[in-house]
Amino acid sequence: MTEKILQRPTLVLNRNWQPVNVATVTRALVLLWNESARVVDPSDYQLYDWEDWSKLRPLDGDRFVQGVRFRLRVPEVITLTDFDRLPATAVTFSRRNIFKRDHFTCQYCGKQPGVEELTLDHVIPRAQSGESRWDNCVLACLDCNHRKADRTPEQAKMRLRKQPIQPTWNPLYAAHERRIESWSKFISEAYWNVALKK
Ligand SMILES: [Zn+2]
Repeated sequence: MTEKILQRPTLVLNRNWQPVNVATVTRALVLLWNESARVVDPSDYQLYDWEDWSKLRPLDGDRFVQGVRFRLRVPEVITLTDFDRLPATAVTFSRRNIFKRDHFTCQYCGKQPGVEELTLDHVIPRAQSGESRWDNCVLACLDCNHRKADRTPEQAKMRLRKQPIQPTWNPLYAAHERRIESWSKFISEAYWNVALKK
């Protein structure tokens, strides 16, 4: 039981409270012990260093790590004390990631006809020097793609449901299927919708 709890994911924020990683509870506790991180209590955003945290007694229903002499509450969110950068890894511009970003949805008509019926559309067509970039490529169903042809949305009188942008999520999080409820205060809904499979 304890073993499993130690493997639970903890959200790691940088000093500016931007999510930068997901670590195991074990790693989070080590960072806390080292004074490299503090625990954030998601209910009131209070910060705890190791000393304060280890004095807290788990309440009923709290997850805890059973030590020899005490029970330690399981942190769900920690913030690093020194690190203020964002993860360097940019999301790869790939077909697969565009499908994920656009939720397998045609960005013109909103249909979800399935992978076979979706294609990549250049918003400004290549014929008009449109580039293959995050902000110029969207998913389109075959019908919309055919209808739009080599025209811009304005020329074709078709409206994009939203402007395409480079996603800011980190593929690291996508590996964690389980959603920890308290994380939602630190990670935007938009992020979750993109990063997690349905
Ligand atoms: Zn469509």
